[in-house]
Amino acid sequence: MSALSVVPFLSLKDYFLKRYGRRVQKITVALPFTCPNRDGTKARGGCTFCYDGSKPSLLSATVPLRDQIRQGMERARKKYGEDIYFFVYFQSYTNTYGDLETLKKAYDTAIEFEDVVGIDVGTRPDCAPEEVLDLLSDYAEKGYEVWVEFGLQSANFETLKRINRAHGVSDFVDAVLRTKMRPLKVCAHIIVGLPHETREDVIETAKLLASLPIDGVKIHPLHVIKGTVMAKQYERGEFKILTLEEYVSLCADVIEILPQNVVIHRVTGEVDESLLIAPDYCSPKMKNKVLEAVKEELTKRGSFQGSNRKALNR
Ligand code: SF4
Repeated sequence: MSALSVVPFLSLKDYFLKRYGRRVQKITVALPFTCPNRDGTKARGGCTFCYDGSKPSLLSATVPLRDQIRQGMERARKKYGEDIYFFVYFQSYTNTYGDLETLKKAYDTAIEFEDVVGIDVGTRPDCAPEEVLDLLSDYAEKGYEVWVEFGLQSANFETLKRINRAHGVSDFVDAVLRTKMRPLKVCAHIIVGLPHETREDVIETAKLLASLPIDGVKIHPLHVIKGTVMAKQYERGEFKILTLEEYVSLCADVIEILPQNVVIHRVTGEVDESLLIAPDYCSPKMKNKVLEAVKEELTKRGSFQGSNRKALNR
């Protein structure tokens, strides 16, 4: 990639196109799991921003997994045609938090379907036991592409305590390093605009990611969802939400620090309007506007993914 590249960062769509020669669509599914940050194993109440295990509002874990996958594929084929591959994305709650047999059954179900080329498993960095990573490696060794998504959110431990993550930065580093000892890909989730964070905090988080052998990043703007602890804090005026311009500027700062081989899975957050309190740019209809604004910001700066080598002392 150079300063003249049309797209100033490596998007997931482009990565998939290059690797598979066609569109790859993620089918998001929900399993009847919970989370150690909700059931008392680590803490209770969950992360302050979390609504129902971060499950998309249209998904229901009561629908059998095979039906969820089948329905997701049908919807995608209607929209994008027959010439597509699929990833099954285990998104809600903590998808490595179960007994090995249950997890194996779920992952096995995902690869039963023709045209599924990979699985994507969302979890917490303190919930990646060796035997689960080994199980996931078996699928990678069979030729599937396997991503493990770890929520870090911030490299500031005070922030992690404030948002009740109930894990530390060290848990994240440990999980990444152990996962990367296997043929697995790691995607890190971060949130930009967390309460009381400064630009320096965001930069520090980006620098931590850049120093680790991660393969992908999801960058989310902080958004407030009805019914969460954070919603009450927001209504009490305890913190402010970034404007679109502020978010776009910080997001561009992060991208400039991330190495060019890191796939940027997303730069937006989408929440159903019936659940979203703020900001309005996290409503689904604003998704493309945010994406375009981030691209424009980088272009305006004459910068691109990985261009800020100075931040990394390189
Ligand atoms: S770790 Fe994930 S599922 Fe658990 S409370 Fe936090 S955001 Fe929700």
